[in-house]
Amino acid sequence: MCIKACPKKCISFSKQFNRAGYCWAVLEKEDTCIGCGFCYMVCPDVCIEVYK
Ligand code: SF4
Repeated sequence: MCIKACPKKCISFSKQFNRAGYCWAVLEKEDTCIGCGFCYMVCPDVCIEVYK
């Protein structure tokens, strides 16, 4: 959800799988982040902290 919500396309799927078989979300373009918080707002598990 955060990958789709990010207006700057900063977040993408990991290239690896975790033990449960999922790719996780990775902040790949940290310098492009504008700190809008959209990723934070859509995360149902409150996994994201926006500090910029
Ligand atoms: S806070 Fe940064 S990473 Fe999150 S949605 Fe906004 S631009 Fe993307």
